[in-house]
Amino acid sequence: MAQTIDGQALAEKIEAQLKLKIDQLPQKPCLAIVSVGKNPASEVYLKYKIKACNQIGIGLKEVSLSETIKEEDLIKKVERLNNDSTVDAVLIQLPLPEQINFKKVILHLDPEKDVDCLHPLNFGNLCLIEKNGLDLDKQLLPCTPRGIIHLLNSLNLDLSGLKVVIVGRSNLVGKPLSNLLVIMGATVTLCHSQTKNLADETRQADVLISAVGRPGLITAPMVKSGAVVIDVGITKLNGRLLGDADFESVKDKARAITPVPGGVGPMTIASLLENTWLLAKKRREATD
Ligand code: NAP
Repeated sequence: MAQTIDGQALAEKIEAQLKLKIDQLPQKPCLAIVSVGKNPASEVYLKYKIKACNQIGIGLKEVSLSETIKEEDLIKKVERLNNDSTVDAVLIQLPLPEQINFKKVILHLDPEKDVDCLHPLNFGNLCLIEKNGLDLDKQLLPCTPRGIIHLLNSLNLDLSGLKVVIVGRSNLVGKPLSNLLVIMGATVTLCHSQTKNLADETRQADVLISAVGRPGLITAPMVKSGAVVIDVGITKLNGRLLGDADFESVKDKARAITPVPGGVGPMTIASLLENTWLLAKKRREATD
């Protein structure tokens, strides 16, 4: 039976270490969270993020905007945060309403305050990291991929030469993660809704990562014996949070698996806090 990878415990450990580093900064870091309209799922995530910031001494600036805000007005708010010297990091909560083109808005965010690492400059820099040159203590990385790398590191897994299959090619998870894992020496296959014979791909994976948002997508016959399974998916169904993997059957086949909830979710939040600290530290160093 697989080891259940306790993302909650790992996140708490990382946050405790981070609190010590934050205490050493002359001024505590400040994260601005911009949310537009009301989305029940993102409101839940928002609450977790606020609680985590409060616990480790990260200051918060909450910017709640109307569902009907125009794109140019959102851009002005973002530019105001760029110029606000008390703000170290800015998170634009997704999803945004239809009238807003996120790709346009993110271009107006100062890359040095881009806590989600989604500005094209930061996203592009990920592709330019030298092989084996990834340094979690120094590099800004997208939050969920950073959290997943921490989880894999906690298993003392040498990714060099391993076959990793990622299901889901979003800009938030699959695309940046595939780059990072290649940099770490893995051979990566990135699957999506147009992939033919998904099971043929997933069965080859030493590490299988699913980021789709479809409960039950990953079943035991799709998993290689002894694989590590990282379940990123979160779907609320009948009041329960479910991952993409059929946890009960897959855990009998895998070597290790993340639960939902309590796996990748808490690690994404710990990574958001780490990125905020990294950006604040760089700004303090630049002004010293
Ligand atoms: P997304 O932008 O909707 O991307 C979903 C991906 O899944 C797409 O690439 C899509 O393919 C692919 N897909 C859809 N159906 C598929 C199928 N039947 N077979 C194979 N691939 C399929 O989603 P996201 O933002 O990456 O999020 C994915 C899931 O992870 C969601 O449940 C989200 O809530 C969760 N999530 C969790 C965390 C966390 O911290 N735990 C963080 C981020 C996201 P196409 O590109 O071809 O459409």
